[in-house]
Amino acid sequence: MAHILVTNDDGINSPGLSTLAHALEPLGRVTVLAPDHNWSTSGHVKTLHKPLRARLTQLPDGTPAYSSDGAPSDCVALALLGLIPEKVDLCVSGINAGANLGNDVTYSGTVTAAMEAVISGVPGIAVSLDLPEDQVEPCDFSPSGKIAARVARLVMEHGLPPDSLLNVNVPSLAYDELRGVVVTRLGLRVYRDELVRRLDPRGKPYYWIGGPPPTGISEEGSDFWAVTQGYVSVTPIHLDLTDHDSIALLNDWKWEE
Ligand code: MN
Repeated sequence: MAHILVTNDDGINSPGLSTLAHALEPLGRVTVLAPDHNWSTSGHVKTLHKPLRARLTQLPDGTPAYSSDGAPSDCVALALLGLIPEKVDLCVSGINAGANLGNDVTYSGTVTAAMEAVISGVPGIAVSLDLPEDQVEPCDFSPSGKIAARVARLVMEHGLPPDSLLNVNVPSLAYDELRGVVVTRLGLRVYRDELVRRLDPRGKPYYWIGGPPPTGISEEGSDFWAVTQGYVSVTPIHLDLTDHDSIALLNDWKWEE
């Protein structure tokens, strides 16, 4: 029986986490180890300068789960280094409240948790739900849960190449309204960050990175294009960030004085 590790970056109480854990139960034994608070946009963290705590707790619906004060990637490391004694066959991270498209993958705690699994030799899947900018109601994670189970089943059947993970983004639509699954490349995000400068009570400045949420450029075949067209986007991501095309170019530079 397969053993699936489930984590997220929105924290142990996120409804996306419990939806994901229950959606994967038909595929094997599910262990949840997730951060005890929201780590969204934490990037790939390895905590070495302070101890990490972990404890057995419950999801909001009473399902047993572990939580830790570490980052999402710390949670995966803790599990795979032996906090969870049983061998893990697959790590699924999510379901994130908000898409992780294009350059988001380097910021995303959801995606970097899956990267941590891949670094340890365990196949990783990150699952995110695209949310409309004006989202006010609690979002429905259940279509994304069904998609996550479908992707996980296929990964268990086919395996993934070494050093590769799947980044899955699901449009905010009812399950029947999803137009299908397309395999995509990372798209181009357009960030609209603005620096907000304020003064603390002692007159010293502090800063917020503010501004509206990012948009993107809708090039056909990209992850951003897929979710805006109503398709589930599945992007294979390789951890080898080498710019192979630039190797020959850089070899033409005069490196010796
Ligand atoms: Mn998040």
